[in-house]
Amino acid sequence: GLGMLQDSGLCVVGDKLNFIRYLSHFRCVHRGAAFSQMRTTTVRKLLPESWGFLCPVDTPDGEPCGLMNHMTAVCEIVTEMVPAADIPPLLCSLGVTPIDATPSKPYTECCKVVLDGCMVGWVEWELAPEIAETLRRFKITQEKRFPARAEVVLIPMTGKPSLYPGLFIFTTPCRMVRPVRNLLYGRNEWIGTLEQIFMNVASLESEVVPGVTTHQELFPHSILSVVANLIPFSDHNQSPRNMYQCQMGKQTMGFPVYNYRDRSDNKLYHLHTPQSPLVRPSMYDYYGMDSYPVGTNSIVAVISYSGYDMEDAMIVNKSSWQRGFAYGSVIKVESIDLALKASRAGENLVFGVRPGDANVVDKLDADGLPFVGSVLQPGDPFYSFMNLNTGEAFTVYYPNKEVGIVDNVRLCSNDRGTGKFKKVCITVRVPRNPTIGDKFASRHGQKGILSQLWPVEDMPFTENGMVPDILFNPHGFPSRMTIGMLIESMAGKSAALHGVSYDATPFTFTEKNSALKYFGETLVSAGYNFFGTEKMYSGISGLELEAEIFVGVVYYQRLRHMVSDKFQVRTTGPRDAVTNQPVQGRNVEGGIRFGEMERDALLAHGTSFLLQDRLFNCSDGSVAYVCISCGSMTSPVLEKPLHSSSVTSSRRYSCSVCSEVDAVEVVPVPHVFRYFVAELAAMNIKTKLKVE
Ligand SMILES: [Zn+2]
Repeated sequence: GLGMLQDSGLCVVGDKLNFIRYLSHFRCVHRGAAFSQMRTTTVRKLLPESWGFLCPVDTPDGEPCGLMNHMTAVCEIVTEMVPAADIPPLLCSLGVTPIDATPSKPYTECCKVVLDGCMVGWVEWELAPEIAETLRRFKITQEKRFPARAEVVLIPMTGKPSLYPGLFIFTTPCRMVRPVRNLLYGRNEWIGTLEQIFMNVASLESEVVPGVTTHQELFPHSILSVVANLIPFSDHNQSPRNMYQCQMGKQTMGFPVYNYRDRSDNKLYHLHTPQSPLVRPSMYDYYGMDSYPVGTNSIVAVISYSGYDMEDAMIVNKSSWQRGFAYGSVIKVESIDLALKASRAGENLVFGVRPGDANVVDKLDADGLPFVGSVLQPGDPFYSFMNLNTGEAFTVYYPNKEVGIVDNVRLCSNDRGTGKFKKVCITVRVPRNPTIGDKFASRHGQKGILSQLWPVEDMPFTENGMVPDILFNPHGFPSRMTIGMLIESMAGKSAALHGVSYDATPFTFTEKNSALKYFGETLVSAGYNFFGTEKMYSGISGLELEAEIFVGVVYYQRLRHMVSDKFQVRTTGPRDAVTNQPVQGRNVEGGIRFGEMERDALLAHGTSFLLQDRLFNCSDGSVAYVCISCGSMTSPVLEKPLHSSSVTSSRRYSCSVCSEVDAVEVVPVPHVFRYFVAELAAMNIKTKLKVE
């Protein structure tokens, strides 16, 4: 009822999956849900005035593309409210005629002066550029208490249909501003979105044209968001790959908080052995991301080895895994409030166990809570509480289907600590070490599924006996063109050899001063091949592999998508009450839809028995009684028993319409079909079956 375009989605949970995600929540700008329904793509386009304010890379693909944007790393929102009362007198002292006076020249030769949306005066067009320039000087040098984050825009009279001409000044909060270097004064200036259009901002030193260029970017990567700034050598990648990394960086398991023990988030992810990347952009250190690391430096060989690395699958060295590669856990907190469990007022519930209760002995402490450090199997007693009035005890069982370890138990009272201890938070730690089917990604939008934990003795090895952690299929490169990953691999290898970390800030290398040459030479100086390749030997035959293999160090992220959360399996289980078909959903042990395309695939393979099994026997297969003379499925009825002891099997079906005996056949049909016939009959539509 507030007349807003949308009334939902205005509030977003500040998810602490990892610190990058948490941070980017506060830099996210959404156009609004109403725009996602629009047929046109205009609202999604990145327009010139958003240059430097909104990141061209950090937007999701698909439905919210271009509507959900992220502010650039340097962009800020004006928050302070500055008193604008001093500005009209200042303008008058510069030659602006106040609004209540008459200008010396005709109105057609005067330019309107607008402050924060209110017209404050007039000024002759010849004078306007000089006044605008003076105001800009005040803004930069902080003279006359002119606000530093004000926006001064002189929209010229063009004689063509264009923006409304005039001298506009904005001082209000909630505007986006960003710093650029003003070349005239040699100082940084905060500029706004409207004034940027009338400026000539150079990106690099070499682009500055004397007399034309007024401003220069602080650094070339200032157009990128915080997340996009963390991609190493992103200027060497195909643009969509950087977009994918911006999405995946927010789904990475990491080290989001230090106070795991004191937090009560429903779900937190925790990577046990995160590392600082060997190759990182300058902004990584600027944001202190080492305090919240999100990945592991791993030795990656680009090689097609066995079939387990097809289609973005990747092979992981089992030995690395045994040494703790990408180990992690999920921390779940269950909070129980006994005040909410009391069904009637005055019920006195307390945590505790009934003395001598055989079900919970050794599993729960006398206070009804699990022991810290105890291992919870699915179905184990989780906690227990008693009704003091009746003496009844209630035991609640561990609801998860995975084994968990009780991390800590916290007993809480009310906010002031004066109430009774009726609330408890039980933290359960679920180990989630990598398994086949877990998702990993490098920082270049190159995701892959762990397909095999290959024994170390079967992995290929280099001349000096080194075995890679990850085997990456070379087919992942040509179509994706993530050259940044190749450079990162070389730089990482060189960094490991020299014991340093290398800067991977985008736009630092050029075609003349190429990254390949730079890192190739550092590799040569460490005694390795210029191109980062090495001779390798097959771990299976021991023979030297003919091709030289590209081996290097790449920072790998473990993503939160894990098979343990996603796998679905069913033999028999719950069925829908109406259709008798399996219900949908993983949580209820439902089935997976076997759709038309899947049906077509089985038909094409000629596997009709499998088709029958999937769609009939394992779904809603049933039998129907059909009268072959009238074709009705609804008319056959079971004969009345002759006497009370007569068995059903000796009774026969007969048609209640044509009353013919021995004309009823048993036909296997899906249960939904029987339901369908019944629905049609309810609408007075007769269904006739031809049984042959
Ligand atoms: Zn009949």
